[in-house]
Amino acid sequence: MRELPADPSTDNRRRQVIGACYSRVWPKQFEKPALVAYAHEVASMLDLSAEFCTSNPFVEAFVGNSLLSGMEPYATCYGGHQFGTWAGQLGDGRAINLGEVVNLRGERWSLQLKGAGPTPYARTADGLAVLRSSIREFLCSEAMHHLGVPTTRALSVIATGELVERDMFYDGNPKAEPGAVVCRVAPSFTRFGNFQIFTARGEVDVLRQLADYTIKTDYPHLLGRLGSGNDKETYLRWFAEICRRTAEMVAHWQRVGFVHGVMNTDNMSILGLTIDYGPYGWLEDYDPDWTPNTTDAVGRRYRFGNQPQVALWNLVQLANAIYPLIEDASALEEILQQCQNNYECFWQSMLAKKLGFVRYLPETDNELCTELDSILRMVETDMTVFYRNLAQLDVGSDSESTTSEDLTKPVIDAYYSPEKLTDDQRRRISNWLCQYIMRLRQEGRTNDTRRQQMNAVNPKYVLRNYLAQLAIDEAEQGDYALLRETLDVLRRPYDDQPDKCRFAQKRPDWARQRAGCSMLSCSS
Ligand code: AMP
Ligand code: MG
Repeated sequence: MRELPADPSTDNRRRQVIGACYSRVWPKQFEKPALVAYAHEVASMLDLSAEFCTSNPFVEAFVGNSLLSGMEPYATCYGGHQFGTWAGQLGDGRAINLGEVVNLRGERWSLQLKGAGPTPYARTADGLAVLRSSIREFLCSEAMHHLGVPTTRALSVIATGELVERDMFYDGNPKAEPGAVVCRVAPSFTRFGNFQIFTARGEVDVLRQLADYTIKTDYPHLLGRLGSGNDKETYLRWFAEICRRTAEMVAHWQRVGFVHGVMNTDNMSILGLTIDYGPYGWLEDYDPDWTPNTTDAVGRRYRFGNQPQVALWNLVQLANAIYPLIEDASALEEILQQCQNNYECFWQSMLAKKLGFVRYLPETDNELCTELDSILRMVETDMTVFYRNLAQLDVGSDSESTTSEDLTKPVIDAYYSPEKLTDDQRRRISNWLCQYIMRLRQEGRTNDTRRQQMNAVNPKYVLRNYLAQLAIDEAEQGDYALLRETLDVLRRPYDDQPDKCRFAQKRPDWARQRAGCSMLSCSS
């Protein structure tokens, strides 16, 4: 707030905000807020004690009713491409930043409330959030962190005690639902769209100020000579690092089977963090064409298999946005090309880890991985169970005398209807397993060493769509026990946790067509 241009008006009316990075805004007051859950790890990052986090002052502060000392709330201005089309000014329509905390370890964390009332950027919406989507954001941010995926974090979910009206499927059936506020935590919430808006409006001065501020604050290692302004080379190095971080983030999404659902450029973090958990979902049966977002059901722009391509498309938009600072299209194009190559390498090394190889060998592994992709698509196969169970294969035993049934035994549980597998399909699966075992034997590692590597990247527990919904169903009845237990299981996604196996079950039949489990809309 000290360093970037502010909106001179404090009028909390929906409007275009010109020439400013942010507007001052005050959160709405809620009469009966109550704590739903908080994440103790995030509280520790902010040096907050468990005692404080369960107290009334905590609830009042993190629902937005009272400001703690030093908090100066504001909403930022950004634009974005939504589903491939420039949408103009969007901005923090229901996100209100409270300020930054420098903790005892010297780390800087920005705090942001989501659903604490409208801002000048709220357009036609109400600035509020419902409990179901707040729980989804809270659980998934933390689950992703524990999976090792770069993400914004979540400190708390607080029920507002008020009802919010939502037409979940835009079919003329609005319903009053309980409201809630999530407090998100990240080093920065700046998005690609924060840069795009200034370029679109020809406000190159503000663009430069925001870029310089971001480099100084979030990319200080890139700074040139102290005190001097950034030159073209610094901006290019900055862009290359954003590309690298974004590519790594998406490779992690592909590793764990996460589908973001709304990869608009306003939902892309400049730090390469997963941000804005809306109609996201987890692949249960492996289907690269799947998206949970009903708003995207026709074009499927943001389907699982398209995420790496979309990330690149979004990076091209960012390149366009920062072009006025660089004015060298071919230098930017070169970085984008490099980014695509890097993604391929990064993904191959990720696949090698998932399959338990020491390293990826294109000569053999390209074919093996293509066939794996086909057999995973061939019949309904649970991606998480498949990879996790693959580690159980015994590479040492003699495959000559092994029947095809023995061979497929470890992975059979990954099939949704194993009884329906045809002889041909069984043969194809066991042929692949034979090839795979031969490939593993070449490396001569023990079962144990390989399993350890695989189990460290193939989670046993992910936030399956139906698990989130079960926690929400109970929370909507005022019971938060399952929500807290789910969070607890997801804290150790790579550990076996034998008493929590029910959280590792493939999607039950009832969840196949239920709203919230297989389909979601942007309405939240
Ligand atoms: P999203 O698709 O959720 O990333 O949101 C796109 C834009 O709409 C952002 O500017 C959001 O802040 C805004 N927005 C979404 N939902 C609401 C809401 N309930 N109230 C105000 N603004 C919203
Ligand atoms: Mg958003």
